[in-house]
Amino acid sequence: MDKWRTPEAQAYRKLYQTKHWRHLREQVLLRDLFTCQRCGCHLKRGKTQPQSAVVHHIKPHKGDLDLFHDAGNLQSVCWSCHSGVIQSEEARGFSTEIGEDGWPLFKTINQRLQSLTYGFFHH
Ligand SMILES: [Zn+2]
Repeated sequence: MDKWRTPEAQAYRKLYQTKHWRHLREQVLLRDLFTCQRCGCHLKRGKTQPQSAVVHHIKPHKGDLDLFHDAGNLQSVCWSCHSGVIQSEEARGFSTEIGEDGWPLFKTINQRLQSLTYGFFHH
């Protein structure tokens, strides 16, 4: 079964399609001056480069709307740092696979999770 088709995953995805989120995301990027908060690189728009901007939830929101929309819980990072964050979190035994902004990454993680840790997460 494809976990991305679970009701939870679909609900989470919808959170990223709201005006509220897009506005908030933009504010966080401006607040952070389009600078990656981890490596300090200048973030770029678009989603296909290592320095593409990703707005990361520091604490996984798990569908919690307050946490999801809390600017204090958001951090601008680049795509490549974000990959590192996710990898380290996966290594710690939990995942932020839902709650990240970046469709290519979504796919990659999804495929990786399916091949490596399917059945580990309870959705
Ligand atoms: Zn970075």
